Amino acid sequence: MKKNALFRLVLAALVFGLSLPASFGRAPAKIKIAKEKQFVLDWLAQPQIAEKFGRISDSIWSYAELGLQEFKSSKLLADTLEQAGFKVERGLAGMPTCFVASYGSGKPVIGLLGEFDALPMLSQKGRIPAQDPLVEGAPGHGCGHNTMCTAAAAAAISVKEAMDKFHLPGTIKVFGSPAEEIIVSRPHMIRAGLFGDVDAVIDNHSGSGFGTSYGRGGNAVFSVIFSFKGKTAHGANAWAGRSAMDGVEITNVATNYLREHLDPAYRMHYVVLEGGQAPNVVPDKASVWYYVRNSDERVEEMFERVLNCAKAGALASGTELLPPRFIAAVHQTHANKAAAELFQKNIELVGMPVWTEEEQSFAKALQKELKAKEDGMPAKVDTLRIPSGMSFGGGSTDVGDVSLIAPTASIRFPGQVPGAIGHHWSSVTANFGSAAWKGLNAGAKAIAASAVDLLTKPEELKKLRIEFEEYAKKYAYKPFLPADAKPPLDLNEELMKKFGPLLEKFEIK
Ligand SMILES: [Zn+2]
Repeated sequence: MKKNALFRLVLAALVFGLSLPASFGRAPAKIKIAKEKQFVLDWLAQPQIAEKFGRISDSIWSYAELGLQEFKSSKLLADTLEQAGFKVERGLAGMPTCFVASYGSGKPVIGLLGEFDALPMLSQKGRIPAQDPLVEGAPGHGCGHNTMCTAAAAAAISVKEAMDKFHLPGTIKVFGSPAEEIIVSRPHMIRAGLFGDVDAVIDNHSGSGFGTSYGRGGNAVFSVIFSFKGKTAHGANAWAGRSAMDGVEITNVATNYLREHLDPAYRMHYVVLEGGQAPNVVPDKASVWYYVRNSDERVEEMFERVLNCAKAGALASGTELLPPRFIAAVHQTHANKAAAELFQKNIELVGMPVWTEEEQSFAKALQKELKAKEDGMPAKVDTLRIPSGMSFGGGSTDVGDVSLIAPTASIRFPGQVPGAIGHHWSSVTANFGSAAWKGLNAGAKAIAASAVDLLTKPEELKKLRIEFEEYAKKYAYKPFLPADAKPPLDLNEELMKKFGPLLEKFEIK
């Protein structure tokens, strides 16, 4: 849909309403802010800029492309950066949708991470507080990745403008990172040398709060497909065959018995990818996809035990276990404390966006539907999260590997509804429209302000580097991903071939 300028102005006024000065305006005057930082905050506060990146986010949300199939999403972001004057290299590290956009030259080199992939089965209409798919069974943005590389791109372009205006030294790079939902891209990007010259990394993730944390978090993971080869036969004459599906089932029975004898912090889950097509044909091919999650120290040993279960499945069913296919293998995240402290100051400076009545009532309606606490959108930014030192729970991200090769911390920016469930339709519905636009704009400001600090204050960057180099003595990076593992370009191909055309008619341009 083409919009004229007047329509855009009216739309911006409707979306941002009277809260515009508070949510997009200058930072409070009483705090002394360096002119370069004030510049990026003001640049990002322009309504037409907030709208431009909000629309990019909504477009990516509507594409809902799965990992390594993010052709439209990646192109939109890479084109936006290129049009802003960045040098963009595409199709890197063996992944057509991976790109790096760079601006400036020499040291320091500040890297911004950005994700853009969706999740399967979550299709949902935007801003509707009840489950209502756009396309039944299609993918959806249930983790807010539509907002994330978008926030990094907005931040990078504002920093580029500041570099031009104030003749700042150094380089800003956006790492367009595909397939985070299948935890794939960063180990390959590291292996390809893309992070070789990076001095510090600012990661981001969408959420409902606005904050950051440091220390070790999340789980290392091995994501592996076990495939079995049997012998086909008539189902009514099954003694002549060997069922590959039996291999899968015995593997799963064995791992579920194994669970009892694992520390409760050990996590594993699986889906059956292939198990035959009809009971009257003994399946000679079957496969099961496992996530084995644990701490960095324990994940390899745990994987060996799960692999033994698969070997047992093959032995008992008289089938052959093919060489396991590594989809991904990543470390826990080791977030840098000095980076998190710096980011926290900028998060507090930017502050929580001011939400409109409409945004509050949508949030409460969604919370009601989910039987969550009906307290609407958050009013304040979070305090700095310190490591709990407790058991290793939670998800996994390939940002973990990056955190072991350069000082890294992540800015969690708002926009999602508190109580909405991650990887669920309730997050998809909340990651669209005005609240998502405001959240990513606030995130972009905190990212840009932090990048300006790292480019202009060598003493700040030095703190990150000293901590990182000390840490690296204890935790030297050794990839979990086997040297011969390739990015699984085929993994989501069929699903996107099926759903891409169905989603096309809902595309937001
Ligand atoms: Zn995510």
